[in-house]
Amino acid sequence: MQDSLVLFGILIALLAGLAAGKFWERYKLQEGRWIDRRKIRQSPHFILGLNHLVLGQVDLAIEQLEKAAALDPNTLELRLVLGNLYREKGQVGRAIHEHQSLLQRPRLSRLEHANIQLCLGLDYRRGGFVDRATAAFTEVLRLDPESEAALANLEKLQEDQHQWQDAYITRKRLAQLAGPPDQPKSQSILAFLETEIGLQALKEDRLDDAAHRFEAAIDADGSIVTPFIYLGEVQQKQGDLLAAIATWERAIDVSPDRSYLAFGHLERAYAQANTPGRFPELCRRLTAASPREWRARLALARHLDAQNRPLESLELLLDALEHNPHALAIHQAIWNTLSVLDLPRPLVARYIEVTRRSVFYLDPHVCTRCRYRSTELLWQCPHCHEWNTFVEERIAPATDQEAEIPVVTP
Ligand SMILES: [Zn+2]
Repeated sequence: MQDSLVLFGILIALLAGLAAGKFWERYKLQEGRWIDRRKIRQSPHFILGLNHLVLGQVDLAIEQLEKAAALDPNTLELRLVLGNLYREKGQVGRAIHEHQSLLQRPRLSRLEHANIQLCLGLDYRRGGFVDRATAAFTEVLRLDPESEAALANLEKLQEDQHQWQDAYITRKRLAQLAGPPDQPKSQSILAFLETEIGLQALKEDRLDDAAHRFEAAIDADGSIVTPFIYLGEVQQKQGDLLAAIATWERAIDVSPDRSYLAFGHLERAYAQANTPGRFPELCRRLTAASPREWRARLALARHLDAQNRPLESLELLLDALEHNPHALAIHQAIWNTLSVLDLPRPLVARYIEVTRRSVFYLDPHVCTRCRYRSTELLWQCPHCHEWNTFVEERIAPATDQEAEIPVVTP
C-alpha cells in the first residue's frame, strides 16, 4: 500500500512537471503579463497577411502582419519580415529603422543577431549605402561564417566596385560551402573574375602577371573565350606572335559561336606572320562547319573588299544577310560594296529582295536569366548581374499571321 502511494506521488509529480512544461512552452512572461505564444500564429491577421503575401499584395500583407505583430510586440521574426517588406516597397529608410531597432533588443542569440544584420545589409545595399552594406555582411559572416546569402551579396558589392580580387576570394569561399553541385557555376564565375584581375594587370603593363591570370582563368573554365583573346594580346606584346596566333585559334576551337571575337586579331597576325592566306581559309572553314555562321562571311567579305574583289565580297554579304537580316553591319558593308561597284541595278534589286523578306530587330542579344536586351554581347548582365547569360537572338521568318498588322481606323 505504501509502495503504491509513493508510485502515485511520483506519477502526480511527473504530470505536474509536464503540465508546467507545456504551460511554459505556450506562454511566456512579458512585462508582468503571461503572453500566449500561439496567439500570433492563430490570429486571423497572420493568416490573412500570409495570403496577401502569396498573392503579391504587399500593402495589404503589411497591414495585416502589422496587426498580428501588435499582439506580441516582442516577436522577432515577424518584425524582420515586416522590415523586408518595407524594403521591397522601396521604403528603405523605414526598413533600416525597423531592423536597427531589433538590434537593440537584449538577449539576442548569435543566429538572431546574424539574421538581423543580413536584413540590414540588404536594406543598405538597396539604398546604395555600399560601405554600410559591406560592414553589415562582414558582421554576418563573423557571427555565421557559413552564411551563403551574406557571401553572395558581398561578392556582388565587390564586383560592383570592381574589387575583383576581393570578389574572387569571396567566390572561392562560396564555392567551398556550396559543394560539388554548384562547382561548375562557381568555376565559370571564378574564370571571369580571374580575367578581370588579369585585365587590371594588362592595363598596368604587368604582362607576366596578366598572362598568369588569363591562364588561370582558362584552367578554371576552358569554355570561356575572353581569357584566350587577352592571353593572345599579352603574347603578342611579349613578341611571341606564333604563340598569340595559336591562342586565338584555340579561342575559336573552344567557342565557335564567339569566334568572331578573334577575327580581327587573327587577320592582322596572319598578315604579320606572312601567311595572309590563312584568314580566308579560316573563314571558309567556319562557314562550312556552321552554314548559318554570318560573321565569318562578313569578315571574309571585308577581307576581299580590301583586296579589291567587290563582286565576290557582295555575294558573301548577301548570303550573310539571309542568315541574319537584323545585323546592321552587313547592311553597311553591302552599301559600301554597292557604292564601290557604282550601284548596278540588278544587284541593288537583289539586295532589296533579300531585305523585303526580313524582319528587323534592333537588340539582338538577350539575357537568358532576366530577358534584358542589349545591342552588343555583354559578359555580365547590367540588370541581374549574372555572368555569361547573353545569347544572340536569332529570328525566324515571321508567319503570315504575325506579319499582318491590323489597320486601326480612327
Ligand atoms: Zn540578366
